[in-house]
Amino acid sequence: MVAESRLDCLKAMGIEVWTPRRTLLNEQSPEPLSQAPLAADERDLGMGQPDWPALQEQVKQCSRCSLHETRTQTVFGVGDPEAAWMFVGEAPGEQEDLKGEPFVGRAGQLLDEMIRALDLTREKVYIANVLKCRPPRNRDPSPEESRACEPFLLRQVAWVKPSIIIAVGRIAAQNLLKTQTPIGKLRGMVHDYQGTPLVVTYHPAYLLRAQTEKRRAWEDLKLARRTVDSLR
Ligand code: SF4
Repeated sequence: MVAESRLDCLKAMGIEVWTPRRTLLNEQSPEPLSQAPLAADERDLGMGQPDWPALQEQVKQCSRCSLHETRTQTVFGVGDPEAAWMFVGEAPGEQEDLKGEPFVGRAGQLLDEMIRALDLTREKVYIANVLKCRPPRNRDPSPEESRACEPFLLRQVAWVKPSIIIAVGRIAAQNLLKTQTPIGKLRGMVHDYQGTPLVVTYHPAYLLRAQTEKRRAWEDLKLARRTVDSLR
């Protein structure tokens, strides 16, 4: 289903789609990424239209921001590159940096539980981060780092073509939606990310500290499930 009709379908089902004023990255063009000309940043990468292994290699070799100096390894993503569900977090933490995989450790286990609650598995979804390298001491990504890394995520989304994106946590949501709006106000509605429906939920690391918010996270996942089902 092409992006526009997918969003029209959601609106027809009574699911309100919140459309940002500007599209991500390719701000000069309202076209979906797959049809849009490469943004300047992407041309800088010399990426053209790389296939999946070539994109992985581009990330592995990347030195577009200073995080390449401190990383153990890049964390490209994991799962099915043709998945209908794509989860996007903020950046690798210490364990992810060591293992080369996003969302490991206790937070990763909780994300796995959230995925299982959707009758899915880690292998059947795709999981990535806004940043592919760990910021030292797990600090928030800087705007420059996010900008430098965005073309990789855009290419991943264009390749996977998910039916829905789940923005996991405040930092991921604010980066993807180009907003400073608090996460509490971004939840509970369907956003538009380059023509793909996007739902925001809490980061599992936060849910481990705030167990009572798990109920809200489940509401987010149910909204995402309804959104996907309405597109069938
Ligand atoms: Fe490159 Fe992204 Fe790593 Fe920066 S965070 S070095 S842009 S892969």
